[in-house]
Amino acid sequence: MDDCLFCKIGRKEIPAKLVYEDEAIFAFEDIHPQAPAHVLICPRKHVVSLTDATAEDTAMLGRLQLVAAKLATDRKLTDGYRTIINNGRGAGQSVFHLHLHLLGGRVFRWPPG
Ligand code: 5GP
Ligand code: ZN
Repeated sequence: MDDCLFCKIGRKEIPAKLVYEDEAIFAFEDIHPQAPAHVLICPRKHVVSLTDATAEDTAMLGRLQLVAAKLATDRKLTDGYRTIINNGRGAGQSVFHLHLHLLGGRVFRWPPG
């Protein structure tokens, strides 16, 4: 998508602190971190939200989680971390290119706000 913020970050047309890249996935530091570690993990494919994902995206969805686990291990988030997809405006989604949040480095409450 030409106008999508996260597609532009993935194509390096907009600067971001990239922390992981492969042929299908890229990950970068959130500009407004909500925890000491806050990384956004995205597919290169423009998918608007989890609701828009299809069976064709099964492997990609799994890879988002596995990249999160790898980054959490690399960053020694041994006390725990969260992976979150905000799906739709009511759940707090503000950028409409599917992304997984990896949050760590502090204590998290349950239920989330
Ligand atoms: P959402 O609210 O859609 O689940 O998450 C979008 C996230 O993208 C937010 O945490 C927000 O801080 C982050 N974000 C928005 N614009 C930018 C940007 O230009 N660069 C980076 N690195 N993160 C951004
Ligand atoms: Zn996009």
